Amino acid sequence: MSLWLAGIGVSRGIAIGRVHRVHGADLDIPEYAIEPEELDAEVERFEAALAEARSQLEQIRSQIPASAPAEISAFIDTHLLMMQDTALSDTVANLIREHRCNAEWALKLQQDHLTDVFDQMDDAYLKTRRDDVEHVTARIQRVLLKQERRIDARADRSRHPPVIVADDLTPADIIILHQQGVAAFVTEHGGPLSHSAILARSLRIPAIVGVHDARRMLVDDETLVVDGEAGHILADPAEDALSFYRHRQKRDQRYRRMLGKLKTEPAISADGRKVRLLANVELPDDSKDAAEVGAEGIGLYRTEFLYMNREEMPGEEEQLAAYRRVLRSVDGPVTIRTLDIGADKTLGHGRDHSASSNPALGLRAIRLCLKETDMFRVQLRALLRASAEGDVRIMLPMISNIQELRQTRHLINELMTELRSQGLAFNPALPVGAMIEVPAAALAAPLLARHADFFSLGTNDLIQYTLAMDRVDDEINYLYDPLHPAVLRLIKFTIDAGADAGIPVSMCGEMASDRRYTRLLLGLGLTEFSMHPANILEVKRLVMQSDVSALQRHVEAVLGATDALEYRELLDALDEPAAA
Ligand code: PEP
Ligand code: MG
Repeated sequence: MSLWLAGIGVSRGIAIGRVHRVHGADLDIPEYAIEPEELDAEVERFEAALAEARSQLEQIRSQIPASAPAEISAFIDTHLLMMQDTALSDTVANLIREHRCNAEWALKLQQDHLTDVFDQMDDAYLKTRRDDVEHVTARIQRVLLKQERRIDARADRSRHPPVIVADDLTPADIIILHQQGVAAFVTEHGGPLSHSAILARSLRIPAIVGVHDARRMLVDDETLVVDGEAGHILADPAEDALSFYRHRQKRDQRYRRMLGKLKTEPAISADGRKVRLLANVELPDDSKDAAEVGAEGIGLYRTEFLYMNREEMPGEEEQLAAYRRVLRSVDGPVTIRTLDIGADKTLGHGRDHSASSNPALGLRAIRLCLKETDMFRVQLRALLRASAEGDVRIMLPMISNIQELRQTRHLINELMTELRSQGLAFNPALPVGAMIEVPAAALAAPLLARHADFFSLGTNDLIQYTLAMDRVDDEINYLYDPLHPAVLRLIKFTIDAGADAGIPVSMCGEMASDRRYTRLLLGLGLTEFSMHPANILEVKRLVMQSDVSALQRHVEAVLGATDALEYRELLDALDEPAAA
């Protein structure tokens, strides 16, 4: 009988395959006492296991083909770095001696401690680094316990390719399985921002996480349909369901092919309005994906990733090299956001700041950079030098007042003088813009516009701060509402302020990526969208089909609605072509 299970879709696409369950990841960690005279030997046993785990990862790393996206080896490097960290090696050895316990138990104590630290973090991305700690410690535990994890999906290709069903998958597992040719991944744990999810997306393999009890409910070799967009799986489907999904698979392929043809088409609406579609990138090599879908430039390059998971701060030359890589791989402007991190989040090199009880409102982003000016100067110098080689724009996150813009401008001017005296080139007219992601910035937009060369709406934070809801708190995520009238009014106010001041306004929050809001945003007057490259062609298609003037009239009526029901009805009507 068919079985339907739901999870969270983290990588789109429909796959039809056969179930291949991966067991052996649930480790039973023993606890026993070690005699004082045996402690040295126990520490050595731990160190040998650590070395073996490292060599396993190094071997996997050496198998990555040179053509693979750069983040693949970066994720393995992250795990290798963690294994070298004293928080694992020295601390676990000390715990063995202190508690006179076996290596497995000491490692478990340290793992619990580290995962607690990550659990308390406010940032969604950093929170998922807890997975990395678990993956790394599990690999060492398996060596200690001599419990090899058998992960081999190559057997019997007769009917369908395998769909891997596991408790969780590490980036290393994903690499091995991808090489074996799998149809999809289904895991019981994990989240959309985990490295494994990012990898599945970049390898274009459908994936679903958080399907509780999947391994208990599914049977090896039964047919399994995976809908990576809807986030559900269907086991042992009836013939009509199977043919429905086969049809969807074909339709998706046709749709993708059709979208592919739009790559070189200009993004011009049905009534002749030019819209600019830019890409968001996280790693320099993501910009290749942006170029592949014909992005007209980069609207947001999140530089945090240059600073994370490492011992030392990235130097000026290293940053310059990363910025150059992005500049070379796309045509058009490259908007580079300065470091957006801080408060309770450690950068991994001893620069911890006192934890605020309210980190989202604490010392972060531009506030942190303006406090840590030595660090900020390095990034600004690298950005200025990159500006000599292409259309670089500097974007400042979390701006909430004019002073922050003026202080940054002052620093930039100082650095320009410094570079000039050193004979180093830069663009003296380099545009400096503000992210509008704090309600105060949106409401003060007409004033900020006098000090900014452009605005970019960061709706992820703007929604969080407007609706007083923590964007990483699962308990209240139902409050996250891009359509809330307060949010739409702030967006409209910012767009109008930009137009009045004659500066461009773009949007780089997730709202710009979501095809459900494209028509609404066009109606609000947005002309620049920046999004994950995977969504660009879909949004372009909607732009090409839209009559922007009609949408603007309609959205005016939405914003003028005085009754909640009328407001929602008018919003719903935006989905109907008649509205355009
Ligand atoms: C935003 O807040 O919308 C944004 C783009 O920045 P981030 O998601 O990196 O905070
Ligand atoms: Mg933000």
